[in-house]
Amino acid sequence: MSDSRARITGLLEAQGTKIVGFCAVPDNTQVIEVTETFPRAIVFGFPLSRAVLETIEDRPTLLYKHHYKTVNWMLDQTAFRLARFIEELGKRALAVPASQTVDREQQKGHVSHKYLAAAAGLGHIGRSGLVVHPECGARVRYASVLTDLEFAPDARATGTCGDCQKCVRACPAQAITDTGVDLARCLAKLKEFSKIRGIGQYICGVCVKACDGRH
Ligand code: SF4
Ligand code: SF4
Repeated sequence: MSDSRARITGLLEAQGTKIVGFCAVPDNTQVIEVTETFPRAIVFGFPLSRAVLETIEDRPTLLYKHHYKTVNWMLDQTAFRLARFIEELGKRALAVPASQTVDREQQKGHVSHKYLAAAAGLGHIGRSGLVVHPECGARVRYASVLTDLEFAPDARATGTCGDCQKCVRACPAQAITDTGVDLARCLAKLKEFSKIRGIGQYICGVCVKACDGRH
């Protein structure tokens, strides 16, 4: 399996992304609904459209909602193809949904793509709680495939936010501070946004837009 990284990177590039990382699943990683153990993960991401993010000021727009759903769909399609590829190599693989909420209050999916992305060297976890990619900032959405395929892991990301306060200033709920994100405040704002005509989902996009990779 020495060339598995190169083959997977090639497969993902053919699907349209060069943002890919490989990691050992950190101890104590919670994977909801899954009893099998998967020792490793491949995390990949699609950058979001700058033009779509520019339509956001202090709330989500219909263009952002559509884009968010489109990118999630691309992530899920790509994860499915990658999992099939790994299974054809005779190994186990689980495509984790890009955006399936399992615990609304804690804003959790089946596994934290963000923590796996940081473990796979794709970026540090920033003040907003999002992964800050060195070039794209938080303007990337991620998905993961868990597997027992063997490969060498990438080094964990080591960056910091430094003095940047862009997401702190931008958050319409004042939910982001130097000590972390107040999930209850954020969730209350997402509920409010979900009632905007045509949105109907718990999305925001403001801290994503603010973190443009130029901190
Ligand atoms: S998603 Fe919106 S409300 Fe929540 S922390 Fe980010 S900017 Fe604030
Ligand atoms: S906007 Fe700045 S402070 Fe916020 S997560 Fe990004 S780099 Fe960190």
